[in-house]
Amino acid sequence: MTDISVRFAPSPTGRLHVGNARGALLNWLFARKNGGSFLLRLDDTDTARSNEEFARGIEADLRWLGLDWDRFARQSDRFPLYAEATEKLKASGRLYPCYETSEELQLRRKIQLSQKKPPVYDRAALKLTAEDRVKLEGEGRQPHWRFRLNHGTTAWDDIIHGHVEIDMASLSDPVLVRSDGYPLYTLSSVVDDGDLKISHVIRGEDHLTNTAAQIQLFEALGYAVPTFGHFSLLLDADGGGLSKRLGSLSLSDLREQGVEPMALNSLLARLGSADPVEALTELQTLIAGFDLARFSRAAARLDPHDLDLLNAKLLHATDFAAVRERLPHGATEAFWLAIRGNIGRLSEAADWWAVVSTDLAPVIEDPAVLAAAVEALPPEPWDATTWKAVTQAVTAKTGAKGKALFHPLRLALTGRDKGPEMAALLPLIGRDRAVKRLTGK
Ligand code: GLU
Repeated sequence: MTDISVRFAPSPTGRLHVGNARGALLNWLFARKNGGSFLLRLDDTDTARSNEEFARGIEADLRWLGLDWDRFARQSDRFPLYAEATEKLKASGRLYPCYETSEELQLRRKIQLSQKKPPVYDRAALKLTAEDRVKLEGEGRQPHWRFRLNHGTTAWDDIIHGHVEIDMASLSDPVLVRSDGYPLYTLSSVVDDGDLKISHVIRGEDHLTNTAAQIQLFEALGYAVPTFGHFSLLLDADGGGLSKRLGSLSLSDLREQGVEPMALNSLLARLGSADPVEALTELQTLIAGFDLARFSRAAARLDPHDLDLLNAKLLHATDFAAVRERLPHGATEAFWLAIRGNIGRLSEAADWWAVVSTDLAPVIEDPAVLAAAVEALPPEPWDATTWKAVTQAVTAKTGAKGKALFHPLRLALTGRDKGPEMAALLPLIGRDRAVKRLTGK
């Protein structure tokens, strides 16, 4: 049996966004579920657009999500391997020099389209003679190099798409080497996947046609062809491509907005699969239930509201020990247990901490109810039963019930008209503050 090995291969030309995170997570879960290894590969052959800051940002984003990697590679360290592969392909006649400028190619595409023909490269360069080439190079043209695809059908069994067949004549021969000698993605990716023995390539379905060409390239270079799984793309909840609201947001934006990484993981691990999205606090739980074959070809819809709900549910289920360091200084377990069911983002804990631990401007709505409450306050220590005892005494004294009872008390004691259970908040507020707030002092 082959060892399971997958990779996540971002280009360090920007920060990771939600769509990238899904690719990283699905690969990572696949590796962890199958006892395989997870490679982080930085696709940085485009040295002009890649930079160190983005590279470090990607690593920080993955760590924030809780995803670790067993192997690390960067393509800029591996140029000699791509050069070797280039020579091999030239020697076997699969790589041919082309001299068209991008303007010439664009014009040809336009003409093809106006003739209702598919805009496929016409292989004009294959017809050049040795003299033609010498002449073109004499004019100062440097060739770029295309991989000659074998026409016919290329097929594979995709973990998600099932049996896929691509008519290779419908594809342009891919450019593998630019005219300045730099290798392009198709080449470097296949060389690395082959050389680093990647067993499963799991990526978005925007790569489906690349896969067909890459399969031929794996074969031409003598590498084992990996198994492929192409997950559907993420769409906005209302249909279109991914919106600015969530999809194109970077992970660092989400982190700044106080999104819990496990809320995002919980959503991205199941979205587009047959399994229901649940708020899970541990990656381990996601690993246990993970099965790439349960993902569907249908587009996965991403609703920012779902992320908010998951975030809130997750906080609700989070233990004090897990958040302690991120809570305001002095916050206790009783405080956390009182508020965790009422917050959407952890940052709101600071507001509630201020409610129970600082002076508030009191809001006096019904002085009679408040006066009765002050009288009914027992000596401390207080516990979860104190609130009930106090409100019962206020009802007995004033006849106030329901909203007329609870609303003025909550408003005076917390400064807000909704929030966590008063039974849990009151002991945290304590007698001194309660008296001050109820008497409007
Ligand atoms: N660097 C490529 C990308 O970000 C990797 C694609 C792949 O997974 O092969 O699109």
